[in-house]
Amino acid sequence: MRRVSIFGATGSIGQNTIDLIARDPESYDVVALTGGQNIARLAQDAVRLRAEIAVTADEKRLPDLRDALAGSGVEAAAGSEALLEAATRPTDWVMSAIVGAAGLAPGLKALEQGATLALANKESLVTAGALIMETARAHGGHILPVDSEHSAVFQGLVGEDMSAVERIIITASGGAFRDWSLDDMAKATPAQASSHPNWNMGQRITIDSASMFNKALEVIETKEFFGCDHDMIEVLVHPESMVHALVGFRDGALMAHVGPPDMRHAIGYALHWPHRHSLPVERLDLAKIGQLTFRDPDPVRYPALRLAHEVLEAGGMAGAVFNAAKERALDAFLDGRIGFLQMADAVEEVLERLVASQCLKNAQMTLDTVQETDHLARKTADNVIAEQNR
Ligand code: NDP
Repeated sequence: MRRVSIFGATGSIGQNTIDLIARDPESYDVVALTGGQNIARLAQDAVRLRAEIAVTADEKRLPDLRDALAGSGVEAAAGSEALLEAATRPTDWVMSAIVGAAGLAPGLKALEQGATLALANKESLVTAGALIMETARAHGGHILPVDSEHSAVFQGLVGEDMSAVERIIITASGGAFRDWSLDDMAKATPAQASSHPNWNMGQRITIDSASMFNKALEVIETKEFFGCDHDMIEVLVHPESMVHALVGFRDGALMAHVGPPDMRHAIGYALHWPHRHSLPVERLDLAKIGQLTFRDPDPVRYPALRLAHEVLEAGGMAGAVFNAAKERALDAFLDGRIGFLQMADAVEEVLERLVASQCLKNAQMTLDTVQETDHLARKTADNVIAEQNR
C-alpha cells in the first residue's frame, strides 16, 4: 500500500487525483486530504477514502468539519499549522494542488520528509524555484511535474541528456479570448474570462489562461524545473490543446507529446512514475481529428509572456514579486476594480517598483524571505491598483 496525501483535494486537480485513487482503493492508504471552504466535499471524500486526517485551511470552518466527520474516525483539523502538521506525516506520495502561494509551505514540508511531490501548484516553482529544487535534492525526494506541459516535457526527456536539448516549446490554447479583439478584451467580465474552450479547471487558472499569465507562470516553471536558459523556452498557440509540449534536440528532431486535454493523464503519470499504468483517458483518433494548428502568440494581446522573460532575466525574488502581483491583480479584476487588460499593467508596474531594489536582489532565498517578498509585492500591487483607479 502506498501512503498518499492530497493537498487541495477539493479543487479541480484534487478531484481528478481522487478519481484515479478511488478506482484502485486497495493500492492506497490515504493519509491527509486538505481543502479550504468546501467542507462537504472534503468530509465526504475523507470518509469515502478512509483518510487519517482532513484539514481545512480556514480555522473558522473547523466546527463545520468536525460536525461533518462526526463518528467517521477521520481526524479533523484546521489552519496553516495543521496543514504543515499534515505534511509532516510519513507519506510516499503527495499531490500539491492548493491554488496560489499558499501551496508553497506544505509542499516544502512534504519534501523535507523525503516524499515524492507531484507538483500541480506552479506557484511553488515560480516563487521559490531554487529553494524547492534544493530541498528535494537535500532530502532525497523527487518532484514530478503535473502541469500538462511540464509533464509532457518531462516525458519527452526520458533517456535524454539536457545538453542535447536546443529548445522547449510549451503550447497554449489561447484561452477564452483567443479570437477576441483587444477592445472586447478590455471590456471582458470575470464570467466571460472564466470559461475555457478546452480544459475544465479552477476559476483562477482559467482566467489566467485567458490573459496568458498562466503560460507566463509556466515559462518560469519550465526554467526552474528543467534548468534550461530562458531563451530556449518558446510558447506556441495551439487551439486544439492536444500537443502539450515539444522538445527540440540539437539534431533538429522535435519530440511532441500528444494527448487529450484531460489532467488525469499528467496526474496519472506522476502517480505511477516511473511506470505507465492504464488510465481512463480518451484515446485520440488522429484521422478523425484531421488537423492540428499552431501560431505564434501575439505579444500585444499577451504582455504577460514578455514579463515572464523579464522576471527570469532578473532572477532572485522576481518570481515571487510577479506571482504575488498577479494574484492581487486577479483579485482586483474579479472584484470589478480593474479591467481585464489592466491586470498586466499593474503587474508590470509592481515589477518596475520592486525588482531593481537592492534588498530584494541580495536576499537569500528561504521560506521566510519568499513570504516577506510576497507580502511586500501584494501591498505594492494594492497601491498600484488604487492609483490606477484614481
Ligand atoms: P481549484 O481552485 O480548483 O482548487 C484549489 C484548491 O486549493 C482547493 O482544494 C481549495 O479549497 C484549496 N485552497 C484555496 N485557497 C487555499 C488556501 N489559502 N490555503 C489552502 N488551500 C486553499 O484549483 P485547481 O485545482 O485548478 O489548481 C490547483 C493548482 O494546480 C494551481 O496552482 C493551478 O495553477 C495548478 N494547475 C491546475 C491545473 C488544472 O487543470 N486545474 C493544471 C495545471 C496546474 P476549497 O475549494 O475547498 O476552498
